[in-house]
Amino acid sequence: MKFGTKAIHAGQEPDPATGAIMTPIYQTSTYWQKSPGDNKGFEYSRGTNPTRKALESCLAALENAKHGLAFSSGMGATDAVMKLLSPGDEVITGDDLYGGSYRIFTKIFSNYGIKFHFIDLNDAQNVKKYVNENTKLIWIETPTNPTMQIVDIESVAAIAKANNILLAVDNTFASPYLQNPIDLGADIVMHSVTKYLGGHSDVVMGALMLNDDELYKRLWFIYNACGATPGPMDSFLVLRGLKTLHLRMKAHCENGRQIAQFLKTHPRVEKIYWPGFTDHPNHDIAKKQMRDFGGMISIALKGADLNETFRIASSFKVFSLAESLGGVESLINHPVSMTHGSIPKAERDKVGVTDNLLRLSVGVEDVEDLLEDLKQALA
Ligand SMILES: *Cc1c(COP(=O)(O)O)cnc(C)c1O
Repeated sequence: MKFGTKAIHAGQEPDPATGAIMTPIYQTSTYWQKSPGDNKGFEYSRGTNPTRKALESCLAALENAKHGLAFSSGMGATDAVMKLLSPGDEVITGDDLYGGSYRIFTKIFSNYGIKFHFIDLNDAQNVKKYVNENTKLIWIETPTNPTMQIVDIESVAAIAKANNILLAVDNTFASPYLQNPIDLGADIVMHSVTKYLGGHSDVVMGALMLNDDELYKRLWFIYNACGATPGPMDSFLVLRGLKTLHLRMKAHCENGRQIAQFLKTHPRVEKIYWPGFTDHPNHDIAKKQMRDFGGMISIALKGADLNETFRIASSFKVFSLAESLGGVESLINHPVSMTHGSIPKAERDKVGVTDNLLRLSVGVEDVEDLLEDLKQALA
């Protein structure tokens, strides 16, 4: 089945009790057992729930994976992957990460004896320099947030395989419509479902998708034992959101392309970050591993100090100033004071997360209105 058909149908059969076409919201914490252990495969909703199960099958199908696990947030999903590790283990990851990932690595898991290497991944071969016998996990994000660096997933996967290291890819920015890391050799795909997958800024959720049965068992154990699993109402909202994922992504990409082109030559824009430009440092890799370039764009404003950047960020009429991304509505974000506040300034400066940087999540409104809004805000 092709992508759009899977987004609408995967994991979803007419409800056995009523024939309902849409998977019902099974709003129950527990399930009747005829005699102890004699049940229909559902015992307690922390571990299994039919609405969530349908969603997990759909999510797995979209990433061409065998297994899917939904979590109550993207960070909950990341937390579960980290709990595969033990004290003394080492992780190699990028130096341009989602702020919350950086925070959970440095402020939580570092305290449990896990060592993190934050490295430049523009050249995938850099990874080799940090591999040793304690390396158990490589964690990458591509495109990166917010500077839209592209990491060569296939090359990192080859290094991971050769050294028997797990590779997890945070695929939130691309969405499975644009990129499927498992097809490129990754072991685990992580999503903040909150973003493009949910797509309507009304749910916080995370997910892991993977193929390996043993690894699935270990992750399912953590998922059930630690309990960061989402409820049936949120699962339903995401099932509903997924049905238009392919349509939304097409529109995000098309609007993103027009807005990136408009901003590239704008006199107030000093630098623009979008992987669709041929002069993007890793444009060729983006072209190879992604099907299009998405609607996430960052810009550094020319000659703008923090006050001027704040003034511009607050002067939009269609774009809303807010954290998050990937919804149908366009958002603007100031990474330094919002999503990336938890990353120290020295680290931010290294990768270009400067005071004058704004990140756009281009929505699916009429592009003429978005362009008009940018024109007036940057005037
Ligand atoms: C939002 C986000 C996360 C965290 O997900 P939550 O659902 O907010 O917990 C992780 N990675 C990336 C790239 C994100 O954008």
